[in-house]
Amino acid sequence: MSTSSDTTPPQAWQPDREAALAHLNQFLPRAGAYYKRHRNTDPGPEERDAVSQLSPWLRHRLLTEPEVVAATLERHAFGTAEKFLQEVCWRSYWKGYLERRPELWSRYRDSVRSELEAIRADDARQDRYQSATGGQTGIACFDAWVEELVTTGYLHNHARMWFASIWVFTLGLPWALGADFFLRHLLDGDPASNTLSWRWVAGLQTPGKTYLAKPDNIRRHTNDRFTPAPDELATTAPAVGDPDLPPLQELPPADSTPREAAILLTEDDLTGLDSLECLPAGTGLGVLEAAGTRSPLPTGEKARDFATEACRQALAEAERRTGRSGQLLHTVDPVASILQWARASGMATVVVPWAPQGPAADYLAAAIPALAEAGIDVYRVRRDWDSHVWPHATRGFFAFWKPVSRGLRAGELPLVSPW
Ligand SMILES: Cc1cc2nc3c(=O)[nH]c(=O)nc-3n(C[C@H](O)[C@H](O)[C@H](O)COP(=O)(O)OP(=O)(O)OC[C@H]3O[C@@H](n4cnc5c(N)ncnc54)[C@H](O)[C@@H]3O)c2cc1C
Repeated sequence: MSTSSDTTPPQAWQPDREAALAHLNQFLPRAGAYYKRHRNTDPGPEERDAVSQLSPWLRHRLLTEPEVVAATLERHAFGTAEKFLQEVCWRSYWKGYLERRPELWSRYRDSVRSELEAIRADDARQDRYQSATGGQTGIACFDAWVEELVTTGYLHNHARMWFASIWVFTLGLPWALGADFFLRHLLDGDPASNTLSWRWVAGLQTPGKTYLAKPDNIRRHTNDRFTPAPDELATTAPAVGDPDLPPLQELPPADSTPREAAILLTEDDLTGLDSLECLPAGTGLGVLEAAGTRSPLPTGEKARDFATEACRQALAEAERRTGRSGQLLHTVDPVASILQWARASGMATVVVPWAPQGPAADYLAAAIPALAEAGIDVYRVRRDWDSHVWPHATRGFFAFWKPVSRGLRAGELPLVSPW
């Protein structure tokens, strides 16, 4: 189906929209039957043409889910590409799910802090943690995935599942620290997809369900690159706790675009200007960059460089489109820098394309009272796609997919052609 010339990344994810569109275009022919048939196999970085590897761009919204869905449906019948469409919508589902249960994000952040403290006080656990994160466990597949994650910033979905399962059930390490390790190193490190996928593997997401990595499955779906011995991996996967899901909340209301405002983009939606109904008049343009604060531990070099450069380039593009001069807001003291930037704009209103649960949203939430005190209102504008699909993220994925796929088939969802 493919030749080596049409299987670009994995080494070079360029952090801009042009690269995202070029790669989408290149992948689209494979988004139908080929994806469905081969997507679960990870033949290794050089051969990995059955999955799109679009996630680094999607995570920062240099490309959006409704654009990928629209482009796929321009090329394939719904039924042919349903598997790929479903996977793209898993991202929307997890985002909506976390928006509606935000406590899961704050609990995760607290667990990372407390587990890091606990590990510092326990030499044996500290050693296991260090050998896992250093790729020195002696489990060949796991150690290779650590190396791949740290050096490229990407892992295939199936490898992420096996990795998380081995971390939790074979190595007996806390799931939150595994999620933290991923979040720090993945170019697509995403508060919703990452936290909730790790919870799912550990049995905290769906009552009675965990994910057990099995040697034969790994062998088969890595094309024999890895052959763990039968006794090398845990043979049972007891849930690490009860799901204990916090109650479902209504989606917070979104604002409409103000006529006049300073514009603040975040790393969560770098093409967020497109979500505004029109460009507001006024001055002040900023991009809030939060990649350095994904964890109490340092963010990996690949992930940090990708996010920082993506923010820089998005700022340059937004300057070009708005004619404003802009500023990259760093997060050493984010509340102070947001406040200072907003004051300097001289505007009484700041408009922000919606930042879903995550570090940038945390900083905004902390800055809003200070901005209000300075007489500055914050308007949060949500994309139509998110407003349509997030309300369905109440239970399992298939309860979400039913109305969403019905809406897609009927042409009722707000898709946007990327071309
Ligand atoms: C333990 C674990 C942690 C994960 N952490 C992250 C993370 O931090 N950030 C992240 O973006 N994804 C995460 N995922 C989901 C998924 O593994 C990646 O989105 C996917 O592997 C990205 O590769 P791709 O673009 O080639 O995917 P493709 O298979 O080509 O899928 C196309 C797009 O659909 C979306 N998608 C596919 N599978 C999933 C999924 N299971 N959940 C959510 N969206 C999906 C992604 O946007 C992806 O780019 C995690 C999965 C697991 C099991």
